[in-house]
Amino acid sequence: MSEFNDLIKIEANVLKKINNHALKGYNENKSEVIGYLIGIFKENSIEIKDIIIPDQIASSYHAEITDERALINYIENNKSNYVHVGWYHSHPNIGCFLSNIDIPTQKYWQHINNRMIALVIDPINNELKVFRLNNKDQTYELPIKKI
Ligand SMILES: [Zn+2]
Repeated sequence: MSEFNDLIKIEANVLKKINNHALKGYNENKSEVIGYLIGIFKENSIEIKDIIIPDQIASSYHAEITDERALINYIENNKSNYVHVGWYHSHPNIGCFLSNIDIPTQKYWQHINNRMIALVIDPINNELKVFRLNNKDQTYELPIKKI
């Protein structure tokens, strides 16, 4: 099977953290932001429980993690059952999709775990979407439930 229709469950406080990070990047530098999603893989759903904001470089059309230590530290010191479930980045005022730059990044993560997700947020238009790639590297959208 190439597409798993996991339901993505996001807690309101996590959504707020992602939105605040995205707004901060836009307001301070007119730039995108990027980060890791932490949570739990369930049988037919993925619960996003927290985010990690790593060192990054960003511009108005690009954001890139420059140091993965924040994620490694989290995993090594992790006392919960939370794991790395994906990544998020912002698309201020351009809508939510995976660009030609984003697709190889998502492909990299799905190579490690095929259920990894890519969350894209547009904090200006209040839009949020979650994507994955099928085995033809085509983007498909996953359903989101705010909890
Ligand atoms: Zn992008």
